[in-house]
Amino acid sequence: MKIEIMTLFPAMCEAVLGESIIGRARAQGLVEIHTRNIRDYTKDKHRRVDDAPFGGGYGMVMQAQPIADCFRALCADWGSRPRLIYLSPQGKPLTQQRCKELARLPHLALLCGHYEGVDERVLEALVDEEISIGDYVLTGGELPALVLADAITRLLPGVLAADAAYIGESHYNGLLEHPQYTRPAVWEARAVPEVLLNGNHALQEQWRREQALERTKRKRPDLLRAAEHGEWAAGERIETGD
Ligand code: SAM
Repeated sequence: MKIEIMTLFPAMCEAVLGESIIGRARAQGLVEIHTRNIRDYTKDKHRRVDDAPFGGGYGMVMQAQPIADCFRALCADWGSRPRLIYLSPQGKPLTQQRCKELARLPHLALLCGHYEGVDERVLEALVDEEISIGDYVLTGGELPALVLADAITRLLPGVLAADAAYIGESHYNGLLEHPQYTRPAVWEARAVPEVLLNGNHALQEQWRREQALERTKRKRPDLLRAAEHGEWAAGERIETGD
């Protein structure tokens, strides 16, 4: 899969993308993630990419021309038009389900806004989808784009040691993950649940399932309600046991 991040701050993205699991996945060719500086496409002789909003108001707005030319250059380089996602606090909230769907696409372009956002005509003319990472406002779209790129990349084949690494995780099938423990078996008088030490894999699997249900009921009852209302794709609906 190929992901290209269109941004005014490529160094901010590269600093994250070179590290840890994503950095290794890139080095091994399991994913291609590139950054493209929108400023390189401005036709302004002072390299400006923003201007004051029409009608007045606070701050600056990113202009349409550099963004559109940046995206068109990207399409020309790739020889095809990828889905263009604008990271925006006005977008649909990101979910694991959407990450799974996006991970199946061959390539994606992510547009990071800054200042007061981008000229509305860019959304009308070019953007396929707006995604938000939560109901709060950040200074720019770089962190949200990195969140999205990370969440997608770890679902790609070969990136994690085994598919099982994410299949049982929180949100994969609508539940939160069971509690996790590691050595030592007793820490400050707190013992690991006995069932995890007795070597009975069937019992351990049952315990993990019960714990996942119990903590989802306790911490995120809204997830169970969503499952009961069929908000999960066929084959992914969870059994709540109720
Ligand atoms: N004036 C805009 C509004 O009220 O909707 C907010 C602009 S915000 C300061 C600047 C940029 O940060 C946005 O264009 C967007 O790319 C990004 N951004 C901020 N919060 C975000 C969020 N919760 N999810 C995704 N992107 C976000």
